[in-house]
Amino acid sequence: MNIGEMGKTAAALARGFGVTLRTMFRKPTTELFPDGPVKFEARYRGIHVLHRDENGLEKCVACFLCAAACPANCIYIEAAENAAENRISAGDRYAKAYNIDYSRCIFCGYCVESCPTDAITHGHGFELAPYNINALIYRKEQMLEAGAPKQFRPLQPPKSIGTRQAGGAGAGNTSSSRAVPKGTPESPTAAGSPSASAVPSPTRLS
Ligand code: SF4
Ligand code: SF4
Repeated sequence: MNIGEMGKTAAALARGFGVTLRTMFRKPTTELFPDGPVKFEARYRGIHVLHRDENGLEKCVACFLCAAACPANCIYIEAAENAAENRISAGDRYAKAYNIDYSRCIFCGYCVESCPTDAITHGHGFELAPYNINALIYRKEQMLEAGAPKQFRPLQPPKSIGTRQAGGAGAGNTSSSRAVPKGTPESPTAAGSPSASAVPSPTRLS
């Protein structure tokens, strides 16, 4: 090895150790999961979320467009008709059952793009790995917007109407008929939530 080659080797070593030294003093970017929170980009596609509207009703109207758009054929929907005394969604129908088989889902987002009511989006949930593959079939109740159904807040009449009718005999009726759309329950907490027994147990999709 001549002097020139020795110099090149020394320079290469110095560059390499320089990188090592710089990295040693850099703040680590390692995620500390599960000891620390995981940072997601806003557009991360995780476990789906089924949303409710401002009245607490389910946005899904069981149109099947998401199931038709799904390239993995992993969405299973059972539709049912809404009834005035038991309204679940704002449309004519609602999804009595809505399952997604995450052993098939490729998180492509086609279902989200095809939904006409923005009922389904990707959340940031990612802890899917189970010991039993059947546990990868998520039911509507697992994906429905977190928490209890929001309390239905009737629309308030304009102040002028409310003031004029405040003492009148028909004030309550007028306010009520303006506030509650025809066929909408006053409290979806009582009538807007499907009973667990109404939803079939998840089964593997064929
Ligand atoms: S993300 Fe893609 S594969 Fe998964 S359910 Fe939606 S359409 Fe199907
Ligand atoms: S999630 Fe959207 S596209 Fe799928 S059935 Fe419900 S309303 Fe239709």
